[in-house]
Amino acid sequence: MAPLPGSGLAKGLAVTLRTMTRKSVTAQYPDTQPDLPPRTRGVIGLFEENCTVCMLCARECPDWCIYIDSHKETVPAAAPGGRERSRNVLDRFAIDFSLCMYCGICIEVCPFDALFWSPEFEYAETDIRDLTHERDKLREWMWTVPAPPALDPGAEEPKEIAAARKTAEKLAAAQAPPAEPTEPQEGES
Ligand code: SF4
Ligand code: SF4
Repeated sequence: MAPLPGSGLAKGLAVTLRTMTRKSVTAQYPDTQPDLPPRTRGVIGLFEENCTVCMLCARECPDWCIYIDSHKETVPAAAPGGRERSRNVLDRFAIDFSLCMYCGICIEVCPFDALFWSPEFEYAETDIRDLTHERDKLREWMWTVPAPPALDPGAEEPKEIAAARKTAEKLAAAQAPPAEPTEPQEGES
């Protein structure tokens, strides 16, 4: 049976009316900032002090967009008669965010907790070369990394925190002034 003349128009108007009465889901960015979850994959921060230049992140990155340069330095023996050691010193650490696909593999594979996700995403550039963030910029992103979620009340203290606390206590004890001798009390000989 042929459709009634004008039924298509009526259907279209019905859809329009239905949609008009629904709440809009479009956010007017940038006037309205999106409410993102704290673990959003926005940008990667580098905590340089933890990086041992093991190169694992650069090797595992599927896009080959992590650039690391380093050199070796000789560390003198800790005790007389001991052996000298060599260690890697970071010269360059950069991530090209124009190639990065935000897979998170570099963060997952880093054995020393040197890379972190930050939810910051407002770093668009007009020149693609500016999307290569060098180590200083990657370090700046660390300030925007949210604190880790709180542990369960009965959870065991993480071993890194326990070790850091013990070291801090040892340092504090070593720096504390020696205890003053107590005055002899009346009646004491
Ligand atoms: S998130 Fe993925 S693509 Fe981006 S730098 Fe890390 S490993 Fe490479
Ligand atoms: S995997 Fe971690 S420690 Fe190794 S080079 Fe990358 S950031 Fe540094």
